[in-house]
Amino acid sequence: MSKPIVAIVGRPNVGKSTLFNQIGKKRVSIVEDFPGVTRDRIYMDAEWLDKNFTMIDTGGIELESQDTILSSMRVQAQLAIDEADVIIFLTDGRSGMTSADEEIARILRNTRKPVILTINKIDTQKQEMDIYEFYNLGLGDPIPVAAANSLNLGDLLDRVVEAFGEMDDAVEDPDEIHISVIGRPNVGKSSLVNAMLGQDRVIVSNMPGTTRDAIDTHFIKDDIKYTLIDTAGMRRKAKIDEPVERYSVIRSLRAVDRSDVVLMLISGPDGVTEQDKKIAGYAHESGKGCILVVNKWDLVEKDSKTPLRFTEDLRDELGFLQYAPVIYISALTRQRVHRMPELVKYVAEQQTMRIQTSVLNQLIMDALSVNPPPAHKGKQLKIYFMTQVDVKPPKFIIFVNDPELMHFSYLRFIENKLRESFGFEGTPLKLIVKGRK
Ligand code: GDP
Ligand code: GDP
Repeated sequence: MSKPIVAIVGRPNVGKSTLFNQIGKKRVSIVEDFPGVTRDRIYMDAEWLDKNFTMIDTGGIELESQDTILSSMRVQAQLAIDEADVIIFLTDGRSGMTSADEEIARILRNTRKPVILTINKIDTQKQEMDIYEFYNLGLGDPIPVAAANSLNLGDLLDRVVEAFGEMDDAVEDPDEIHISVIGRPNVGKSSLVNAMLGQDRVIVSNMPGTTRDAIDTHFIKDDIKYTLIDTAGMRRKAKIDEPVERYSVIRSLRAVDRSDVVLMLISGPDGVTEQDKKIAGYAHESGKGCILVVNKWDLVEKDSKTPLRFTEDLRDELGFLQYAPVIYISALTRQRVHRMPELVKYVAEQQTMRIQTSVLNQLIMDALSVNPPPAHKGKQLKIYFMTQVDVKPPKFIIFVNDPELMHFSYLRFIENKLRESFGFEGTPLKLIVKGRK
C-alpha cells in the first residue's frame, strides 16, 4: 500500500500545530533538519502501530495574502480533500462550536474520504460534556483530545489508522496491473491484444456478473496479475475480421482513466501523425504510466540505426512523453510481444515508487549547490523543503519562499534530477510549488 496522507484542518488557534507537533513526538522519523524547515514544519512522516503515513498541517500553508480567514479555510479544506487520504478536522472545545466550524464541516461532508472530527482542549474529564454540541456538524462521533498534554492522542491515532483500512477497500484490485491499449484506428490494437492473449500462455478468467468484467480480460504472467481493460470489442473485431467496428475514442479515454499503464500504439510504417499526438497528449495528461509501442515493425525497412532514428523522431514529435520507454514490435509476427508484460510491470513499479523526504531534501540541496537558481527581479528563489505526497503518478510538493520565483526551466531541472537519481521511467511526475510561512 502507498503511504497515506493525513491532513489536519481547522480554524486558527484550535491547536493544529500543537497536535501536529505532539504526534510528531510520538514515533516519528523526523526529516533531515536544515535551516528554515525545522521551526514550523508543515509535512511530517509519522508512524503509528507500524503504519507509516505523512501528516500535513494545512494551517501552515501560506495562501494569498488577501484571503480572509474564512476563504483560507475553504481552500485548506479543499486542499485536504484533494490531497489527503484521511482528514482530521480539529475544533476547540473551549470556545465551542462556531460558524466557521460549520462552514468547514459543510465542505468536508462532501468528500467520501474519511473525516475524523476531533475536539481539542478537553483538558479534564469534566469538560467532556463540551463535545456533545459538535455532533451537530454531521460528521459522526467527535473524539476529545488535549493536544497540549497528549491526552487521548492514542485513540485519535487508532481511528486514523483504522481509516487507512477503509481506504484500501475503495481501491480497485490493488494487486492487478490494469492496462489499456490506445491508438488511432488500424494501428493494430486488436492484433496486439490478441497477440498478448495468445492461448499458449494465458489464463483468461472472465468473472461473470458485472459488465466491467465482461469487457476486461484478466491474465497471469510470471505470477503477476494483469487486466487488459475494455478488450471485448477488440478481440471480437479481429476474430471476425470486421473493420467497420471502430474502437471509439471516448471509450478508450475511459479505459485510460481506469488503467495503471497505457500502451500507446504508433504505426512503424506511418510514423507519428497529428492524431497520434492528440491521443498521446491525453495519455500524458491522465498521469498514467505510458509505453510507446511502435507496431508493424515487420513492415519497416531497416538497418541497425533505424530504431535509434525512429526513437529520436518520437522524442521530437511527442516531446511531452520523454519519459515513456519505446518498444518495437510486430503484433502480426509477435516479435517482442512476449516482452510487453514485463515492461508493463516495470513501469507500474516506477509509478508507485516513494522516495523518503530526507533523501529528496538531500537531492534538492545537491541540485541547489550545482545549479543555484538565477535571481529574478533582484529576488532570490529559496527552496526550503520537498516531499513526495502521492504516487501514480508520483507527486511532489516543493516549498519555496515565493512560488513566482520558480521558473519552469528550474522545475524541469529538478525533474531531471529526480529522474537521474531514481528513474521514474514511464511515469509523469507532478511537481507542485507552494509558498510557505
Ligand atoms: P493552530 O493555529 O490551530 O495551529 O493552533 P496552535 O497549535 O497554535 O494553538 C493555539 C493555542 O491553543 C495555543 O495557545 C496553544 O497553547 C493552545 N492549545 C493547544 N492545545 C491545547 C490543549 O490541549 N489545551 C489547551 N488548554 N490549550 C491548547
Ligand atoms: P486496430 O484498429 O487498431 O484494432 O487495428 P487492427 O488490430 O484491426 O489492425 C489493423 C490492420 O493492421 C489489420 O489488417 C492487421 O492485420 C494489421 N496489423 C496489425 N498489426 C500488424 C503488424 O504488426 N504487422 C503487420 N504487417 N500488420 C499488422
